[in-house]
Amino acid sequence: MSRSRILILMSDTGGGHRASAQALQAAFAARYPGRFEVEIVDLWTDYTPWPINRFPRLYGPIIGRALWLWRLLWLVFENERGHSAALRLVYLLCRNRLRKVLQAHRPHLIISVHPLMQHLVMWMLEQEGAAIPFATVVTDLASFHHGWFHARAVRCFVASEAAAEAASRHGLRARLLGLPVRPAFSQPLPDKVTARARLGLAEGGFTALLLGGGEGMGPVAAIAHAVARRLGAEGKDAQLVVICGRNERLRQSLQRSDWPLPARVCGFVDNMEEWMAASDCVITKAGPGTIAEALICRLPILLSGFIPGQESGNVSYVVENGVGAYCDSPDGIAAIVSGWVGGNDLAQMATRARKLGRPRAAYDIVDEIVALMDGEIAEPRDS
Ligand code: UDP
Repeated sequence: MSRSRILILMSDTGGGHRASAQALQAAFAARYPGRFEVEIVDLWTDYTPWPINRFPRLYGPIIGRALWLWRLLWLVFENERGHSAALRLVYLLCRNRLRKVLQAHRPHLIISVHPLMQHLVMWMLEQEGAAIPFATVVTDLASFHHGWFHARAVRCFVASEAAAEAASRHGLRARLLGLPVRPAFSQPLPDKVTARARLGLAEGGFTALLLGGGEGMGPVAAIAHAVARRLGAEGKDAQLVVICGRNERLRQSLQRSDWPLPARVCGFVDNMEEWMAASDCVITKAGPGTIAEALICRLPILLSGFIPGQESGNVSYVVENGVGAYCDSPDGIAAIVSGWVGGNDLAQMATRARKLGRPRAAYDIVDEIVALMDGEIAEPRDS
């Protein structure tokens, strides 16, 4: 029997979209072995012409060095008319390349995990007369622009009440099943002692995990030094883990540094669940993927910054749900972490995090998509 083909559309703007796409791909393989052929495509890089295809590569540098430009782009896309006009222009320039994705992958169903992949693809499907069901998995927690929602999506999966409300404003009745994270997060996680032993960390003491998304963005170095200085000066029984993601320069510079307390500096890691299981708190920019993973690991979250636009709402999501704090100054962050060491706040935040975490999101989404393909459930739509 030939396998049904599923195409997952994403783009490497940050690490979260690819992580969610891979989570869904792995969940299809785990739940329905041999039944589906699931391919992940960076539509923007692979199926748009130059110079539009350079955008994903420019995303990191723009966020890092020209935040004003990102704010401007976000303003355009946040406005319904601006969004529609900008995407129409992109579509005019790209439609010939875009439609090649259908010839190359011949999907039976398309899933998008990226905010810029709804309208372009719907227009292309319309123009090609291709009746391929299209589902959206919203991988933002609290801030959404119009691009996420297209009323003709057969399903829209979301990870928060706020996302469900935003979907409903666009005529979609969303399914709140959580943000898909890698299947490793849905398995029982090792306890702290086991995880630390596996990773070669000291067994006892407070362990602070610091990261800046998949790209190692933001003032990670300044925060690392401030936290280490403070905990070291106070003689706290503590260690620091810094995960630099794909930021090689950051990794090299931190690995050359002297630390006043035990510190481990890593590049990109494939076992984030183990690092989180080994830690007592995570210091991170407000990336939705990292937040969702930390909640599953019951890890209090100290947000050190956010990308204006798509990550702004994540700060209130974390603070209002009582699972962490926000501070954007390295010394302020160090003071908060120091207060957390040995205090009662951590246990309370961990309990609340546990209630918010959705370790089975990827499986639940995949099950619902398969039921939809099998015709077991009707298409929900607000009229
Ligand atoms: N990540 C990872 N290894 C690393 C650094 C990050 O697997 O070394 C993953 C992290 O676990 C999360 C994703 O990259 O799943 C980051 O997504 P998030 O939405 O937090 O931020 P983004 O990178 O998209 O801005």
